[in-house]
Amino acid sequence: MDEFELIRRYFAELTPLADDVALGIGDDCALLRPAPGMELAVTTDACIAGRHFPESTAPADIGWKTLAVNLSDLAAMGAEPRWFTLALSLPQPDETWLAGFAQGLGELAARYGVVLVGGDTTRGSLSVTITAMGQLPAGQALRRSGAKPGDRICVTGTLGDGALALGRLSLESDSDEDLYLRQRLNRPVPRVEAGLILRGIANAAIDLSDGLAGDLGHLLAASGVGAEIKGTLPMSPAFERLAPRTAKRRLQLHGGDDYELCISLPAAHVNAARALLSQHQIALTDIGEVTSQPGLFEVDQAGLRRPIDAQGYRHFA
Ligand code: ADP
Ligand code: MG
Repeated sequence: MDEFELIRRYFAELTPLADDVALGIGDDCALLRPAPGMELAVTTDACIAGRHFPESTAPADIGWKTLAVNLSDLAAMGAEPRWFTLALSLPQPDETWLAGFAQGLGELAARYGVVLVGGDTTRGSLSVTITAMGQLPAGQALRRSGAKPGDRICVTGTLGDGALALGRLSLESDSDEDLYLRQRLNRPVPRVEAGLILRGIANAAIDLSDGLAGDLGHLLAASGVGAEIKGTLPMSPAFERLAPRTAKRRLQLHGGDDYELCISLPAAHVNAARALLSQHQIALTDIGEVTSQPGLFEVDQAGLRRPIDAQGYRHFA
C-alpha cells in the first residue's frame, strides 16, 4: 500500500464534507469558507509515541485523543470547531493500526461535525500532528489575558483523573473505577459547548493540559494578576477512592491531561454560567479569587496562605 492508497482508504472519506469546505482532500491545498464576520482560530498539537502517549495505547484512543487535545484548545478560546488537518508519521502502513486510528479519530470528528480537509503522510517513528481550525465572531475570543482582580476562578468537571490513570496503567486493573479513569485519560471530551457558552461570560480562559498550577499560572501571568485558591478541588468519585490521600493535592494541582477549562469571570456571573453549563451536564466549581498581587497561592482551612509552585510539564526543563 503506497501513501496515496493509504490516504484514499483511511482518510479521504473519514468525515462528510460540509458547506464551508469548498475543496477538501486531494489538491495542493484545501479551500475553506469561514462565515462572514468570523475570525479563524487555529491551533496545532503534536502527539509523539512514548512521549505524549504510551506505545501500548490502543490506536483508536490515539486517534480520539490527538483530535481531542486540539479541540480543547479551540474550546478554551470559545471557538466553534470546523476543520482539521492531519500530519501522520508511521513506521509502516499497518492496516490494523490505521483502521483503529481512523475509527477513533472519525468518532470524535463526527461528534462535533469537524471535517478532515488535508494532511501529510510520511514514514518515520509514530507521531500524529493535528491542526484544528474553528471560527468565532470577530473580536470575541476568550483570551488568557482578560482576568481582573476580584474575578472568580472556576474549573469545569473534575481534576486529577488523567494523571491518576497514567500512574495506574501498569496495575492493569479493570475495576469500574480504573475503567472510568482510563476513559478520562484516553478519551477526554473537549469542553466545546462550555467554551461557546462562556465566550460571552468569562473574562479569560485556558484549557488544562499540563496541570492546574502551571496552566492557571500562564493565565495569571498573561493577565498581570495573581490568585488565591481555597478549599478542595473538584474530584471524581473514582479519583476520591483510588488516589492515595497524600498524592491527591499534587495530582490535582500538577498532574496533566485534564482537558478541563479554567476560567476567570466576574463573581456576579458565576451562578448564570453554572446554570447554563449544567444544561450540558458540565459541572462548574468556584476554586478561588483573582488578586491584584501576582503569584498563585492556596489558603488552607486555618486561613494560612502558601505559595503554589506553578511548575507544569516542561519539555526542555
Ligand atoms: P502534496 O504533495 O501536495 O503535499 P500529498 O501527496 O502529501 O500532497 O497529499 C495528497 C492529498 O492528500 C493532499 O490534499 C493532502 O492534504 C492529503 N493528505 C495527505 N495525507 C493526509 C492525511 N494523513 N490525512 C488527510 N489528508 C491527507
Ligand atoms: Mg505532502
